[in-house]
Amino acid sequence: MSLTIPALAGKLAGLQSSAIRDLLKLTARDDIISLAGGLPDAALMPRERIALAADTALREPAVLQYTESSGWPALREVIAARESAKIGRTIPVAEVFITHGSQQALSLLAEVLLDPGALVIVEDPAYVGALQVFRAAGARIVAVPLDSDGMRLDVLEDLLAAGERPALVHTVSTFHNPGGVTLAPERRRRLAELAEAHGFWVIEDDPYGELWFDQPAPAPVASYSPQVIRLSSVSKILSPALRVGWMIAPERVSRAVELLKQGADLCGSALTQQITTDLLSDADWLAAHIASIRTTYGNRARALVTAVRSTFADRIRCTAPTGGMFIWAEFLDDTNTSALLPTALESGVAYVPGAAFAVSDTADNSLRLCFTTSDEQTLTEAVTRLAKASSA
Ligand code: PMP
Repeated sequence: MSLTIPALAGKLAGLQSSAIRDLLKLTARDDIISLAGGLPDAALMPRERIALAADTALREPAVLQYTESSGWPALREVIAARESAKIGRTIPVAEVFITHGSQQALSLLAEVLLDPGALVIVEDPAYVGALQVFRAAGARIVAVPLDSDGMRLDVLEDLLAAGERPALVHTVSTFHNPGGVTLAPERRRRLAELAEAHGFWVIEDDPYGELWFDQPAPAPVASYSPQVIRLSSVSKILSPALRVGWMIAPERVSRAVELLKQGADLCGSALTQQITTDLLSDADWLAAHIASIRTTYGNRARALVTAVRSTFADRIRCTAPTGGMFIWAEFLDDTNTSALLPTALESGVAYVPGAAFAVSDTADNSLRLCFTTSDEQTLTEAVTRLAKASSA
């Protein structure tokens, strides 16, 4: 009897594994300084405080039980209070939905908000985790470039004027991954106005907003309109292993997301959600903890930018981030960063070529450098190695 091989769903045809995750496998070697991964520094994760919270949580049998699909009630309350303060209006608990990291919110929202072929506007370069989700949803993706003030709203307005009707616009508004830039306050207001005038959703994807160096990030885009669905998580301030993210969205969106979450995983972990509740409620401890991450990352970012600028002078232009985890650099000669990567790895330094994040522009001469997991001296050495590789 001949064998008939069963098929995978047609929508998988266009999907590829994330180039970054594939690359990370190569860069785990000890002799390579990796500025490639987008990981928070494990040494700054509050292991002992988490252990203490876990110990306390485990005295309560309910943390080992299934919990509500919309999240552990005490956590939803803490998040509602924190987000109300950020957004500048009272966020009812019903508008807070806890997800398995903010990535799950993206994936569930794509199912709730997009019909196949719907138009999604993303930034160029884009967060690849969002691109994967929107591609899997069968969306038509159009990219709007970034400049030093974030998404180019003049380009978005041109698209709207030309008759494009997006179902949603995705923006990493603050300390962009990978672009390192922050959407300027007047653009935040304008984006919200455009969403209301043209009837599209905005997803404000903001896992980095707390990681500012010298001054707090601007008010969220969500503070200008309830049509902005806001996502964040504790991955970059506590630990990604907690897998605690959240979505602030109108109740009808949350209710739809809840139906899908039931099908995806029934509910999140009451245990990690209670641990998170404990840490987020410990205001003085939390403030000191986040302040120390800000100081460490700020010093690292400055060291990396200084090294890049002094080593490459006018051969490279790079962002000087005011928070977050990344700088985005561009060779102004015709150095192709994908072609350079094997030589860079041989010289003992890894980065992610811009092409991995590119949507319309090819970003062939660009690269993303993550400064979170190396100290200042190591970052400076990484730049020396990069210079050696690029002049080889
Ligand atoms: N959004 C952006 C812009 C990210 O960079 C990331 C992770 N790197 C996420 C969402 C997802 O993070 P998590 O699921 O851990 O909250």
